[in-house]
Amino acid sequence: MAQTRSRFVKVRCEKCKNEQILFSNASTIVTCLVCKEILAEPAGGKAKIKANVLEVLQ
Ligand SMILES: [Zn+2]
Repeated sequence: MAQTRSRFVKVRCEKCKNEQILFSNASTIVTCLVCKEILAEPAGGKAKIKANVLEVLQ
């Protein structure tokens, strides 16, 4: 994956199937709004997304 630009992605929580939008360059841990599962965590300037990515929004 060569992602050089920041963007928003739509992800689905693997645990409760909640869908939400998150920022691909999140600098803080992003948790599921429903079950608090970690969806993404910061890794060297961009987020490491742990949930299922459904769609990348431009
Ligand atoms: Zn969840």
